[in-house]
Amino acid sequence: MRHRSKLWRHLIHGLLAFVVVTVATWGAERRLVLLHTNDLHDHVRAGDDRRGGLPYVAGYVRQVRAEEAAVLLVDAGDVTEKGDLVASRTEGVMTYEAMRRIGYDGVAVGNHDFDDVPPERIQRFESALGQALLCLNILQADGRPVFAASRVVERGGLRVALIGMIVPRKPGQGGLDFKESGAALAREAKRLRAVCDLVVAVCHERVPKCVEWSLAAPDVAVFVSGHSHQALAEPVVVPETGALVVQAGKYAQWVGRLDLVISSETGRVVRHQGRLVPMDHGTITPDGEMLAWVREREAILAPEAAQRVGDNPAELDGFAVARLGAEALRRAARVDVGFCHPYQVIREVLPAGRVDVNAVFKAGGDRGREVVVAELTGAEIEAYVNALVSVQREPPEWTGFRVRRASVPGGGERWSADLEATRRYRVVMPKIEWETRLLKLVEQLRGRDPANPLVARPLTAAKVEVNFTDATVAYLREVDAAGETWQRRADALVKQREGERIP
Ligand SMILES: [Zn+2]
Repeated sequence: MRHRSKLWRHLIHGLLAFVVVTVATWGAERRLVLLHTNDLHDHVRAGDDRRGGLPYVAGYVRQVRAEEAAVLLVDAGDVTEKGDLVASRTEGVMTYEAMRRIGYDGVAVGNHDFDDVPPERIQRFESALGQALLCLNILQADGRPVFAASRVVERGGLRVALIGMIVPRKPGQGGLDFKESGAALAREAKRLRAVCDLVVAVCHERVPKCVEWSLAAPDVAVFVSGHSHQALAEPVVVPETGALVVQAGKYAQWVGRLDLVISSETGRVVRHQGRLVPMDHGTITPDGEMLAWVREREAILAPEAAQRVGDNPAELDGFAVARLGAEALRRAARVDVGFCHPYQVIREVLPAGRVDVNAVFKAGGDRGREVVVAELTGAEIEAYVNALVSVQREPPEWTGFRVRRASVPGGGERWSADLEATRRYRVVMPKIEWETRLLKLVEQLRGRDPANPLVARPLTAAKVEVNFTDATVAYLREVDAAGETWQRRADALVKQREGERIP
């Protein structure tokens, strides 16, 4: 049955392609295939669970270029961070180099590629990519743009303008706000439309925002969007302008393919067909050269990445990974209590099947690169978990003490820890959790709850020579060697720390 529906899909795609070709031969109409990615986030390797990865993107792009006369390839930003260990060792430079090898025509800047990234690293990105990054709406103090705003590319007799955009920076971060960005896009698109057949905006910004920008900038025919990691099955058509908005998920798991027929006279798309092509390892032939190149770089820069940690019978969710990470940090640092915040630290599940060091790194290694130890009293630890539960409403993952939960009149819960209120315990957590959870909560509580134990004294923590990846790999191997599954151990850690619920 599955087979038959697949066959039908192929037939329908074939038929549509035929219609597109036939229509394209009339008058001043030309065909263009626009391929697009976004939010690659350093996924340079063949992906886990037999899907995704830049070698598969490279293979698919090569195939389309062999079949079609006019192909354009763009990326809507967030090229770096959160991905494979080998790319992280190059601070994301390797991912841009992979994109140069694939032959991208235009790459927009994402917030992860820009915020807190020093200018010299951005220069390294651009030289690895072999071209300027595109971004219209980040400006220097003197008002000049930091990046190239746009580029014109010729394909199959068409002149196509690519304009880069980023999600507007916060005030004071240097850049245009949302409305100003739309106005600047409108001016640039109008200028380029006069000399080009088609204007494409490559925007690191979510779909509804691109729809709003389309209303401001009607000369843009296509918006390639990003940032929200949305796998948009087919293009959104903006009713007022006729513009198309597309987005292709995340992590090189799909390549978006937009087949266009364009009227050179009007600069509009007269016919389109858009879809997401899954980078399924069973159906896409990877680019052998890129596979070999990534493996070679990994063997030099991150040889431990491919080492086996264990076999995972079923996918482990982020909460279980955080809990195992907290216990791993607690053991590695030889302290009383371990924390590892599931929302702050964990970026990925642990996949089913063979898990390697790279998969553990992707789960929490980037955010858990730096780890701190602090001495906190029982009352302070209890106040921290309660602040996470009631102020932020994002409960922690931890090991090393038990809690009893009680409902609070009017809603919510109050957690009591089985710790001595005045005794000091040694507590470990990723530095990012200490800074952006604990210390931020202290700031918030200072005004509204001066009696809170967390605000009584200045809290300090010291960096330790422990990190999430090494600690978690060692711990998971230990569990595996004991013949226990990681899921079972994660469940056991919950039972250990949960007191009885008080109704
Ligand atoms: Zn983003």
